[in-house]
Amino acid sequence: MRTISRVSKTSNPTPEVAPVRWDSPLAALPRLTPARLRALHGAGLQTVHDLIRHYARRHEDRRKFPAFPSAAPPEPLCLRGTVQSVRSTYFGRRSQFTLVLAEKSGHLPAATVQCRWFNLRYLSKILQAGQDLVIHGRPRALKKGGLVFDHPDFEVLESDAPDSALIHLNRITPVHPSIGIWSPRALRRLIFETLAQISGQAIPQLWPASPATAAGRADGTQPNHLTTATALRAIHFPASEDEFESARTHLAREELFEMQCVLARQRARQTGGRAPVIPRQSKLLARFLKALPFDLTTAQKRVLTHIFDDLATGHPMNRLLHGDVGSGKTVVAATAMLGAIAAGHSAALMAPTQVLAHQHYENFRKLFEPLGVPVILRTAARQEKSGASGPRIVIGTHALLFAPEIVGRPALVVIDEQHKFGVRQRAKLSGQEPHPHVLVMSATPIPRTLALTLYGDLDLSLLDEMPPGRLPIRTLVRAPEKLGEAAAFLRQKLDEGRQAYLVYPVIEEGARTGLKAATAEYARWSERLAPHSCALLHGRLKADEKDVIMASFRAGETRVLVSTTVIEVGIDVANATVLLVENAERFGLAQLHQLRGRVGRGADQSWCILLAGEEAGDKIERLKILEEASDGFSIAEADLELRGPGDLLGTAQTGLPPVRLAKLPRDLPLLEEARSAAQKLMAHDPELTDHPALQVRLGFWEKQLFAGVA
Ligand code: ADP
Ligand code: MG
Repeated sequence: MRTISRVSKTSNPTPEVAPVRWDSPLAALPRLTPARLRALHGAGLQTVHDLIRHYARRHEDRRKFPAFPSAAPPEPLCLRGTVQSVRSTYFGRRSQFTLVLAEKSGHLPAATVQCRWFNLRYLSKILQAGQDLVIHGRPRALKKGGLVFDHPDFEVLESDAPDSALIHLNRITPVHPSIGIWSPRALRRLIFETLAQISGQAIPQLWPASPATAAGRADGTQPNHLTTATALRAIHFPASEDEFESARTHLAREELFEMQCVLARQRARQTGGRAPVIPRQSKLLARFLKALPFDLTTAQKRVLTHIFDDLATGHPMNRLLHGDVGSGKTVVAATAMLGAIAAGHSAALMAPTQVLAHQHYENFRKLFEPLGVPVILRTAARQEKSGASGPRIVIGTHALLFAPEIVGRPALVVIDEQHKFGVRQRAKLSGQEPHPHVLVMSATPIPRTLALTLYGDLDLSLLDEMPPGRLPIRTLVRAPEKLGEAAAFLRQKLDEGRQAYLVYPVIEEGARTGLKAATAEYARWSERLAPHSCALLHGRLKADEKDVIMASFRAGETRVLVSTTVIEVGIDVANATVLLVENAERFGLAQLHQLRGRVGRGADQSWCILLAGEEAGDKIERLKILEEASDGFSIAEADLELRGPGDLLGTAQTGLPPVRLAKLPRDLPLLEEARSAAQKLMAHDPELTDHPALQVRLGFWEKQLFAGVA
């Protein structure tokens, strides 16, 4: 609290300085050299507002420094001391800079720690004995005794201005990501002084009615009286950990709301246009379903009802069909596409890879040609001429979706295995005239947080039932020594007439040692398994080479496919019942689950053998999750827990406003609140006439969203 009141005291606008406003360009800030201004512009910061949204990457509690530890602590810590000595050592082109930091306790001899940096020669010019230093990091115990910090963060506490101690010390101190020539310390000063200059100004609240302000925090512990302006101050210079958390929550709500508004508007735009009416009932559909060798599952029927309801409205459908590997998404797509044909329109199915496009092409030809429906394959490598001019089925790769001269203007577009096909691509698709109906299909299990963000512009249907009669895949995790046994088992299955996939993490042995490579192993397996024929399939082969190999495998001539993750999605050969993965620890659990989906596609027992590499260590334990779990959702959750959400959210690629302060999945309740608030707002005030600040922000993001789609 004390620091905050001091801040506002220094902030009384002094008459001689031109007033800086929260929305002024950065050039309005006093004492910025052109080079320093350029650096900020270079990082995309244009206004004062952009600058104060450059959040700290962490805070250090510099109110009271701990005593120097004598044993390695479990968490990183922040120490203050005096540089006792420095030393540079060189080994050829490599160098090491070592520094001894002594505690300022008054006790003698003073406790010390070592700090080391490698190959950073310039440090010898910056760090000298006698300096007052703050370091942050996690030390290790040295064998000969004492503690060492390797590459700690550091800050020299020289008094560069009279108020130095006020800004950099005796507080919960922000450490900002440096920007070009701006060190964290210089940025801290700039942001501190800028906040002081704009204090008292009202920064528009993006979220119109903030329930957390009106009704207190959701958990009811403490009312939250922050405004956006005070939250922006507290996110940098909080008076307490609680204040930081309130500020973070306030700003996280705002950023999630902004993102959800973009999605809500996008959704409105996608579903607001006009699209052809495609009725469900037709003789063609009835004939097709009757000719299928199986009955649709209840889940498939339910999902088709959703889809045909959408197709009949006269507005574009935008639906995500989510179903675990092998749940039978393709036949759902085929049925919907045939509906379009029956109504006199064309339909397109876009796959992420050429191999998959080719497979769909083969299957659709078998399904549709008896009905007299033309099926055409269009990939970058293959653009066969077609005589057909009427309604037709076009199969292609994602990349061709934005090439209407190649795929035409289908009334229905199905996007298979969409994980690389984001909000941005869909926005571009919805910008086409006339709007197509869009069905996106995915087997990637989607945690709720992702469904609400990356797919927030789509309606969701779930295929939560497997076709009947499938035996669960038997999954075995084994140590590398078991390779011989695995090979014997494989041969036995091949002798019984089955086929197999063998998967490797890399194509060729290269810099990364210790990994088995598909090319080398292909040679070994060809010998081991002779006379059963093996083929090598990987992403670097030419499209027509891949086509030939896949055709031969599908026909059962090639018995074993030695491959990389190119076979990860979609491939469907029911006679293949064994999947063997070497160096399995190199794959994510969700990815292994996808790979495992290549087998277990027929009525026979299938096997998934995961051989760990020599250096897998305790990662074998993680793989064992797959022995027990068979559904994608629980596996994805385990994966998310083990590996973290990574950069799934808020990356530049998605074209959405970044999520910088919200922590997901922890802030899922905030996200849901933001979503319903955004939808309500868009229903009442779609043009945002009553919300000018939000209108400006959304205009900005929408420009980003439509820009730069490949
Ligand atoms: P995915 O959802 O992974 O794309 P596919 O559409 O490739 O799955 O279907 C997997 C296999 O299941 C295919 O061989 C398909 O013919 C078969 N299949 C789909 N629906 C059914 C059903 N209702 N009954 C039996 N087999 C089905
Ligand atoms: Mg599929």
